[in-house]
Amino acid sequence: TAQLLDGKTLAQKMQAELRSRIQSLQAEIGRKPGLAVLMVGDNPASAVYVRNKEKACEQIGMASFGQHFGANTTQAELEAAIDRLNEDPNVDGILIQLPLPDHLDAVPLLHRIHPDKDADGLHPLNLGKLVRGEPGLRSCTPAGVMRLLEEYQIGLSGKQAVVIGRSILVGKPIALMLLAEDATVTMAHSRTQNLSGITSEADILIVAAGRPELVTAEMVKPGAVVVDVGINRVTSADGKSRLVGDVHFDSVQQVAQFITPVPGGIGPMTVTMLLHNTVWSYAHREGKTHT
Ligand code: NAD
Repeated sequence: TAQLLDGKTLAQKMQAELRSRIQSLQAEIGRKPGLAVLMVGDNPASAVYVRNKEKACEQIGMASFGQHFGANTTQAELEAAIDRLNEDPNVDGILIQLPLPDHLDAVPLLHRIHPDKDADGLHPLNLGKLVRGEPGLRSCTPAGVMRLLEEYQIGLSGKQAVVIGRSILVGKPIALMLLAEDATVTMAHSRTQNLSGITSEADILIVAAGRPELVTAEMVKPGAVVVDVGINRVTSADGKSRLVGDVHFDSVQQVAQFITPVPGGIGPMTVTMLLHNTVWSYAHREGKTHT
């Protein structure tokens, strides 16, 4: 059976490193790094994610400037909040928890965040740097996938990589990052014909479709590396709800060489890359180099 790509353990190790990095930088700079998470409304999944992010901030010694807005908040109120945070010297990272309620438009808000404080790497300037292969703030989930593959020394150069999902948040940036590591990248999506024919060629298979257990063992090349980005809450026959990924873990682990668990795979890596990005901005904004 496959070896686990253990995101939880790597996330803990990286958070310990960030904590000591913050301690030494704080002594020079005279303040903590700060992250502001903007949340609107009361989407229960978002509330859990935001709480996890704020808890993680606290654990590594980062200040958290969370702002929770009511479901009826206007676009103008959010714009004003972003402007204030852009100006606030104690804030190094700003993130809007998506999705927003339907009456709000996320894109102009994402564009309004100062690119140097764009902890989620979704500002067009940072996306453009990714396309060009220049250093910059990178989207957290894709960066977390890449960091986990690196930790297990999974070679990418010349390999067939297939990404299922083409969202701007996950699929597209992952494909660009794999390309930057010289993988041969195929992107599959909801209109793709013969999905299993394509996935069975993959040495590296990244799944971000938001479809519970879409990928089964027959779709996976023996010995492949399978990364499951999906987080889906499903209710089983007995009425209990549980989290599953986009990969049918029990069958795929029989054929893959490496596989990420859900939970405990990409989820904790995503939070960690958010912290990493904020520390990176902090060091960058204060004129300290950070690797
Ligand atoms: P999305 O809905 O924006 O995009 C889904 C993509 O999958 C689309 O491009 C679509 O074309 C493709 N797709 C849908 N059904 C398909 C099918 N049957 N076959 C092939 N392709 C199909 O979702 P997203 O924001 O990219 O997120 C994807 C998943 O990752 C979700 O389960 C989400 O909860 C999860 N996610 C996890 C983390 C994390 O931290 N682990 C972060 C972000 C998103």
